[in-house]
Amino acid sequence: MYELELERVVDEIGKRGARRVLLQLPDGMRPFAFEIAEHIRKETPSEVIISGDSCYGACDIASRQALELNVDLLIHYGHACFVQSPGVPVLYIEARIPIDVSKMVEAVLPDIAGWESVGLTSTVQHTPQLKEISEALDQRGVKALIGEGTGLTPEDGQVLGCSYAAATKLPEEVDGYIFIGGGRFHAIGLALRTGRPVIIANPYNGKVSRLDESELMQLAKKRMALITAAREAKTIGVLVSSKPGQRALADAMVLAEKLGDREVHAFLIYLDEVRADQLNNFTEPEAFIETACPRIAIDGVAGVNRPILTTTEARVLLGEKTWEQTWGHTYLG
Ligand code: SF4
Repeated sequence: MYELELERVVDEIGKRGARRVLLQLPDGMRPFAFEIAEHIRKETPSEVIISGDSCYGACDIASRQALELNVDLLIHYGHACFVQSPGVPVLYIEARIPIDVSKMVEAVLPDIAGWESVGLTSTVQHTPQLKEISEALDQRGVKALIGEGTGLTPEDGQVLGCSYAAATKLPEEVDGYIFIGGGRFHAIGLALRTGRPVIIANPYNGKVSRLDESELMQLAKKRMALITAAREAKTIGVLVSSKPGQRALADAMVLAEKLGDREVHAFLIYLDEVRADQLNNFTEPEAFIETACPRIAIDGVAGVNRPILTTTEARVLLGEKTWEQTWGHTYLG
């Protein structure tokens, strides 16, 4: 169902005269890796190597591998440009997935009954069809708004797990949001960032559901308890990611300094991937603050045997922000 755009890939390789390319796909697209590589091998004189490391998002671009392998082009599937990759040109193939708009609109209408206006959001796979969805909803009497793309999310209506600017910059208050896509990850982030009701319209199985308030309350209680526990810590590890789009060394240094001012022993820990087994080997810190992807602490890593907070939660811990100022507002930055 993905648009793999193999002809565009071949054209770009030819235009750039690339002799060696690195192919990077998110985990969900790995089943297509050999098909794409085979096509490149058949249709171009270019050598192709597949990146086998994890790829969590466009923030996780394999630029280091590309430099080590001395490739002429990095072909990154499944995301739009998020971060510059100095020294290696990158071809982004967004891997769009066309959806049946009228079927989706019919399915979603009962869940937004009574709403006058709604904000439309999706991942980059479906952003080209948001306008069509908006027009179909308008015809049924629901004002459907699409926020302008900006910064990390350049396409109109586009959201990432860490960036909901297209939703929050809508010109007027909406009754709620529709997230079009699979899974709950982006929908949960949308609720944390906007504090508004979120409907998930899954175009892959045709199901429409409303994000459960009680689930969000459970999450809020859990996060507040972790902040309270971390407040008692006298030793804290501040995690800094080496991933190009997650590296926040300057922020981490400022945080460590502020913790030091409060007589907390804080040290920076530099790592590629935040994994429970690695963190649990550090027995001295009583808590961690991670400055990488905010979703790692919230819903990305299980099994860390001490509190692990996001940068925003660290600000609450330091007293710079109140919980009420962040949850449902700036919680994801
Ligand atoms: S949510 Fe996390 S993994 Fe996804 S783009 Fe943002 S930083 Fe990267």
